[in-house]
Amino acid sequence: MVPVWARDLRSHYKWYGAEMQKQPTREYFHNIWQTVYTILVGLRISLKYCFAKTITLQYPDAAPAIAPRYRGFHFYEIEKCIACDLCAKACPVDCIYIEKSGPRKIDKATGIAKGGAMTRYAIDYAKCMFCALCVDPCPTECIHMGNLHDLSGFDRKSMIVEFTELAIEGMQTPQPLWMQKEKLPEWAQQRKDSWLEYTHSTDKLSNKNEERRQAMVDALDPEKMAVKKK
Ligand code: SF4
Ligand code: SF4
Repeated sequence: MVPVWARDLRSHYKWYGAEMQKQPTREYFHNIWQTVYTILVGLRISLKYCFAKTITLQYPDAAPAIAPRYRGFHFYEIEKCIACDLCAKACPVDCIYIEKSGPRKIDKATGIAKGGAMTRYAIDYAKCMFCALCVDPCPTECIHMGNLHDLSGFDRKSMIVEFTELAIEGMQTPQPLWMQKEKLPEWAQQRKDSWLEYTHSTDKLSNKNEERRQAMVDALDPEKMAVKKK
């Protein structure tokens, strides 16, 4: 059954069509007006942008504008990781791989984990959704979402980031392709230096970069990690 409003609408258009047929001149000018009006409505949006302030960003000469809550590659503090697997369990796509030689526990005096060694901590960025669900459950706050832009790579294999291998070189986060170039614009060099100097860290090893680098390498060594019995 046709609803009342649909019947009314249909009869209105029937009447309107009949009226227009009776007055061809009126219909002619009405069509012209409709065409001009709809074009003007469309152009209004374009014109607004014609006079708006330009927002062209001269990247890479100028730094890209990154939203405050942008999530890029993680940064991982291996020396604080207790390999509890909570991040891997929280990950909805199972893209975190963790291996250890034995249980690890934070030494309260130094803030560094001791016990077994980390043999693997890797994230497959071909699967990662950058949802940050792995960050909240971490009991030692050692996995964070980073803010480096450009998450591209040359092949599928390079999408799997081995954080344990990065730790040997003193890195907490993979370097994006732009950061691996030798000559960098000033803003990029500053951003690179800040990551290599861990300026974002506020833990017990803040401003102790050499100690932190050593702790990162030690986290991979079962002998150095072993807790000595008194
Ligand atoms: S950001 Fe999300 S998808 Fe990526 S590793 Fe963390 S939990 Fe998994
Ligand atoms: S939740 Fe934190 S401490 Fe536990 S394995 Fe993941 S990164 Fe390491």
